[in-house]
Amino acid sequence: MLSGPSGVGKGTVVAEVRRRHPDVWVSVSATTRRPRPGEVDGVHYHFVDEAEFDRLIAADGLLEWAEYAGNRYGTPVAPVRAQLASGRPALLEIELQGARQVRARAPEAQLVFLAPPSWAELVSRLAGRGSEPAAVQERRLAIAQAELDSSGEFDVVVVNDDVARAADELVGLLTAPSPGLVPGE
Ligand code: 5GP
Repeated sequence: MLSGPSGVGKGTVVAEVRRRHPDVWVSVSATTRRPRPGEVDGVHYHFVDEAEFDRLIAADGLLEWAEYAGNRYGTPVAPVRAQLASGRPALLEIELQGARQVRARAPEAQLVFLAPPSWAELVSRLAGRGSEPAAVQERRLAIAQAELDSSGEFDVVVVNDDVARAADELVGLLTAPSPGLVPGE
């Protein structure tokens, strides 16, 4: 399971994992956030409204979920279970609160923290995204600081100094005999 502060490049590293290792299965989260330009429903996220998200929670359909910067995000549990039942690892890209829930439910899951090369680099990446208003960016920066402080809770820290290198390191961890990045049941 991959976590790390907003803007560190989790999405980019996971996209690189998909590109270089199409065999790696990546969980598609449900979210109440609106799609960004280029995001495709069912590929990047399952984009749902608040009522549908409530329904998923009520039906115990999420492995974990969290509210993040005003929107809710959660991991649909059935596809993860099916993947693990087939004996293959599952990669989850989630924020800190969700990572803690998975840790509590599946202590054998491996938690990987993606760290920026430096704080200055993280700030410039968050500003550079440019797709969000300043207030949203500031909110994400405050969360990012708290998330950086939590890196000690993770099993492994991967530094995102180079996207291809970080993706390869992540896949190496994922395919290591034991433990994989595999939340059990
Ligand atoms: P973004 O809006 O930038 O796509 O995602 C915001 C944050 O939500 C990121 O830190 C991302 O890792 C996290 N996130 C995405 N999907 C999930 C999920 O299913 N569960 C949790 N807990 N966090 C998620």
